[in-house]
Amino acid sequence: MAVSVRAGDLAVGRPRAMARTERGATQKAVRWHNLAGLLGHLHRHGPTSRAQLTKLLGLNRSTIGALVDDLISRRLVEEAAEPERGARGRPSKVVGVRSDTFSVIAVEISDDAVSLAAVTLGGLIVGRERAALATDADRRLEHVVDQVAELTARLLRRGQGTRVLVGMGVAVPGAVRPSDGMVRFAPSLGWRDAPLGQRLHDALGLETVVRVGNDANLGAMAEHARGVAGGANDLVYVHAQAGVRGGIIAGGRILEGSSGYGGEIGHMQVNPFGVACPCGSRGCWATEAGESALVRRAGLPPGGRSSVDVVLRRARAGDPTGVAAVQATARWISAGLVNLVNSLNPEMLVLGGMFGDILELAQPTIVEHLRRGIYDAEQQPVVVAKPRFGREAALIGSAELALQLILGDPTAVPVGPLARSAPLGRPRRRLRLQPLAQPLRNVAWSRASPSPSARG
Ligand SMILES: [Zn+2]
Repeated sequence: MAVSVRAGDLAVGRPRAMARTERGATQKAVRWHNLAGLLGHLHRHGPTSRAQLTKLLGLNRSTIGALVDDLISRRLVEEAAEPERGARGRPSKVVGVRSDTFSVIAVEISDDAVSLAAVTLGGLIVGRERAALATDADRRLEHVVDQVAELTARLLRRGQGTRVLVGMGVAVPGAVRPSDGMVRFAPSLGWRDAPLGQRLHDALGLETVVRVGNDANLGAMAEHARGVAGGANDLVYVHAQAGVRGGIIAGGRILEGSSGYGGEIGHMQVNPFGVACPCGSRGCWATEAGESALVRRAGLPPGGRSSVDVVLRRARAGDPTGVAAVQATARWISAGLVNLVNSLNPEMLVLGGMFGDILELAQPTIVEHLRRGIYDAEQQPVVVAKPRFGREAALIGSAELALQLILGDPTAVPVGPLARSAPLGRPRRRLRLQPLAQPLRNVAWSRASPSPSARG
């Protein structure tokens, strides 16, 4: 039996040993790799003693000491004496990220709201703003960009102490070209080829890097970096809410595809003779296994999440129509999952939204269908889990996207105190840092926008 299901608790994976010296790698590259690995571990797993770091990262004490000193000099981490640990033995110092020095702005654009959060290393949220998008006029690109700019200014004005703004990450419900933040297609917003990255640049006048990503991909990144899928480098994240959206992480990287359409698994065809889908196709996974399918099978009129809740409630109470609708939907969910597992061989399937509810109610059905459908199932162990972050996943993922600017290369942050507009040291990054309290017009922006990656 190779399929297992686990509760949505926090999984802490053992990080890969970082001392591996690849052929041709210079000592400098190894040090850079180790700094990023150490900072990434502290960011994801919280304060850790030097002794534990030595064990976890497979490096010796003096190397860990030198790396920690380097990160302290860049104001990225700090040390404290470990709380008492018995009478004997030298107390080891505990290292943790600093939440008072740097932050990013995370943005989630959905079809009904724009949500912003200021987030520090370690994932601490230090400010929030939100504005509703009630009408089609509200969802126009120009209006959304104005809203993001206004809410950003409000977050900055509120004052974030002396924290330096590193960058902005933006989640949108659509296909995105990562190089410049061009939104290729976002049907729920009515956008096609919307130059969001460029417009945000113009509106904010920031030289801080802005990165734009697909919301489901960023949800996958959040669960990968800080959630239930910590330590899994191959996973499929599915969020079933007003459609079925997915994010795929393969070999530790988000699968974006050649044009940014990778991961649109809701439109994977599972039944060529099935129900017509608004996308123009027929029998898509979303139409056979999504919210509308569950409600349809229970004989209720379409009604979004509230109708879904009615069916789930009936099924929990043992009502035969509700149970039958849940069981039939569970079989169609399984059909799509089998295809994904047989194509991608993931370690983990993370099922959010309605799929998570169905998993709770019909776990034996799903497990049985996976066991029968997965090719050579005994040799393909796969864990099925509910996500940790639920509806916050995309916002947390956009913070992670922006924090990659530091986590991916801690040496981009200069040693010592930062001048108010000190550029980061390495020219290849071309990132300028500005205090969050700085007025927007003085905050610069760079178009350098590396491809989002799930690797920290
Ligand atoms: Zn479709």
